[in-house]
Amino acid sequence: MEPIIKIEDLVFDYQSDEDGGTVTAVDHVSLDVERGSFTAVIGRNGSGKSTLAKNVNALLLPSGGAVYVNGYSTADEDKLWEIRRTAGMVFQNPDNQLVSSIVEDDVAFGPENLGVEPAEIRLRVDEALRAVNMYQYRKKAPHLLSGGQKQRVAIAGVAAMRPECIILDEPTAMLDPLGRKEVMDIIRKLHAEGITILLITHFMEEAAQADRVVIMDRGRLALSGTPEEVFSHREEIRDMSLDVPFAVELADRLRKKGAALPEGIICEEGLVNCLCRL
Ligand code: ADP
Ligand code: MG
Repeated sequence: MEPIIKIEDLVFDYQSDEDGGTVTAVDHVSLDVERGSFTAVIGRNGSGKSTLAKNVNALLLPSGGAVYVNGYSTADEDKLWEIRRTAGMVFQNPDNQLVSSIVEDDVAFGPENLGVEPAEIRLRVDEALRAVNMYQYRKKAPHLLSGGQKQRVAIAGVAAMRPECIILDEPTAMLDPLGRKEVMDIIRKLHAEGITILLITHFMEEAAQADRVVIMDRGRLALSGTPEEVFSHREEIRDMSLDVPFAVELADRLRKKGAALPEGIICEEGLVNCLCRL
């Protein structure tokens, strides 16, 4: 089957204001995202993750190469709404994404823009709010909600457009641990329902929950594979100034002290299970 997102040798240059030169934020990246998959993108600040995501959503257009969403090139202006409807985007700051003074109006905003019928909008809004466990807050003002709740409303707003894919750019970066967990639970649930997830995160524990992890470094795709494969490259990851998940680090230290732990431990539960079997 055709991948839902196909990134072919993508280059993206920003024009720099100061000297009129260019900054190459994405440097010859190729990546296929399979339908129904859950891909996490990690990389330190400035490695090009947001620029890559905005190219998928046609918020930015390639300087070189091409991006296809459902087979449509993002450079094809006639397909802009088709692309945005297929691949919805959630950003880091929930306050910049909520536009209405009532939660349910906010969730209705996306489908309204797509020209969905009012009765159908009502159904979708209720369904999306239930999916993110925010239905009971539907009449509330967004500014009264916690960060995690606001971010769940933002996700509901995207889900109400019935996208096949949701791209989330560090959606938990501004949240407390509880808010992060709530948002990750929703992301996993949407994935279980069949939505393709592309999650940009700087939390390694979140990346470890994906089917596939992609590491960006200075605009390039440095590593890609299952979490087990990628996080086994511990030294390379440290050289890119990134951490590995806590369980990977701890398992590594235990092995160095002689514990006969297998490779491929990426989460705390896996580590506990392996330790109990020693
Ligand atoms: P990340 O999301 O991984 O932190 P970004 O995609 O935001 O990385 O940025 C990649 C590179 O592009 C960085 O060097 C950054 O400074 C540069 N950059 C990002 N946005 C702009 C912009 N609007 N104008 C000029 N340079 C930018
Ligand atoms: Mg970013």
